[in-house]
Amino acid sequence: MSYASDVVQMVSQRNPSEPEFLQAVKEVLESLEPVLSRHPKYQKNRILERITEPERVILFRVPWFDDRGEIQVNRGFRIEFNSAIGPYKGGLRFHPTVNLGILKFLAFEQTFKNSLTTISMGGAKGGSDFDPKGKSDNEVMRFCQSFMTELQRHIGPLTDVPAGDIGVGGREIGYLFGQYKRLRNEFSGVLTGKGLNWGGSLIRPEATGYGAVYFAEEMLKTRGDSLEGKICAVSGSGNVAQYTVEKLNQLGGKAVTLSDSNGTIYDPAGIDAEKLAWVMELKNVRRGRIREYAEKFKGVTYKEGARPWDIPCQCAFPSATQNEINAEEAKTLVKNGCFVVSEGANMPSEPEAVDIFLEHKILYGPGKAANAGGVATSGLEMAQNSQFMSWPREQVDQHLHRIMVNIHENVRRTAEEYGYPGNYVVGANIAGFVKVADAMIDQGLV
Ligand code: NDP
Repeated sequence: MSYASDVVQMVSQRNPSEPEFLQAVKEVLESLEPVLSRHPKYQKNRILERITEPERVILFRVPWFDDRGEIQVNRGFRIEFNSAIGPYKGGLRFHPTVNLGILKFLAFEQTFKNSLTTISMGGAKGGSDFDPKGKSDNEVMRFCQSFMTELQRHIGPLTDVPAGDIGVGGREIGYLFGQYKRLRNEFSGVLTGKGLNWGGSLIRPEATGYGAVYFAEEMLKTRGDSLEGKICAVSGSGNVAQYTVEKLNQLGGKAVTLSDSNGTIYDPAGIDAEKLAWVMELKNVRRGRIREYAEKFKGVTYKEGARPWDIPCQCAFPSATQNEINAEEAKTLVKNGCFVVSEGANMPSEPEAVDIFLEHKILYGPGKAANAGGVATSGLEMAQNSQFMSWPREQVDQHLHRIMVNIHENVRRTAEEYGYPGNYVVGANIAGFVKVADAMIDQGLV
């Protein structure tokens, strides 16, 4: 057995109840074979055993009062996975499905993603099984305050800098930041995704979606093509999905779907800027459901319980959650003519779906490369905070665009160098890994 498969086996014995974490570890480690056989130093230094074990896992109780005065108890987590190349950095997810295994998979992936951005950031993730859906603003605030009362002991602008993720947007970051400031008497860049008046960066809300579209455009360029006129399927209707649609519209693509955990809308006429503004109001202000889109606009169909992947498209932007494309759906996408998949979400494609994309040699950009624009722009927010400055919108967008072009080029070149031309999975995993692994070796056994 190879070194990588030995370690995969060891990790699965040690973490038997964490399927998503095992899925991510297996996917990364198996694709590292070419670099491991070329450089025995990684095995000699037991890098795979070390890189698959989080540096620190923090698990805590989050008690809070609901609006009826009843006591509620949720579970809070922060996984500080790897700090070899910078302070821990990664989002917070508030969703009822959150558990240790899911956050470990996200923090593990984050380590390689952050490495690809070229900014100094280690990997982390955190969150809670708290569900903000259906809660009042006051309930969300009381929960966030209780969550931060514990988390503040473990984070700091040079230690660990959380951000948003599913269920954690501008409102939640505001409440979390307010409580941190109150407890520590310190106004600092301890969180990213902050409001513009209090240390936030222009383009941070847009960055993940914009970045996934920039990455798709770069992949298309390798075939002399562009997004102009392309029919695009987008899943989700939250932060990433919304700004994916916005950038697609700007670059001449046509987004025809959006979804949430209840169902999918299909708008063959395209989700133009005006309709998107309505969606933003629906999701971010009224906190409504995507089915209302079909009631509001003509010629739109809504399918309860469905995902968008049977709708014919040339480009797909999964932007909701992990494992949202299975093998059957991948086959349907390819059969219907889809030849670009750029992942805004983290690990949205099941391993068998990835195999199908690679087999058919479509342009497949895995999340750790394609959605790295979000955390990269968080890095830019940290840079602005440390200078006590705010950069103009165009400057941040130019940085983001340049970073996505560089990530694409690095990943493409690495895949080629290791004998897998066009395989962005191998390219992203190896390029992300080498930088972190070399830093771990340089820093000794810590
Ligand atoms: P939001 O909470 O803003 O939106 C999430 C969207 O996905 C909602 O429409 C939600 O529907 C849907 N969704 C969530 N869980 C499920 C599920 N189990 N089944 C079906 N639909 C679901 O989150 P973001 O847009 O920020 O995040 C989306 C994805 O992008 C996640 O995978 C996240 O990790 C990834 N990502 C986000 C970054 C960021 O900067 N925000 C950075 C990099 C990656 P509903 O309202 O019904 O729950």
